[in-house]
Amino acid sequence: MFGIRVLIYLIGIGLVIWILVRLAKSPRVEQRNTGKVDDMVRCARCGIFVPRNEAVKEGDRYYCCSRHRDEDR
Ligand SMILES: [Zn+2]
Repeated sequence: MFGIRVLIYLIGIGLVIWILVRLAKSPRVEQRNTGKVDDMVRCARCGIFVPRNEAVKEGDRYYCCSRHRDEDR
């Protein structure tokens, strides 16, 4: 019985390490994927969320339309 417990213990440690490795790697992959599909940015003027590819960028800020970009200057 002791041998089985040690085996389960080792499997448990292996699982924890595997999960930690996956958590350490996955955020970068998710950022790449969401950046292409539907990455939402917030308008610095009115606070509405718009897709990054449709947002108007000004420096490090995003706006829902060019009018809000001009008003926030
Ligand atoms: Zn806006």
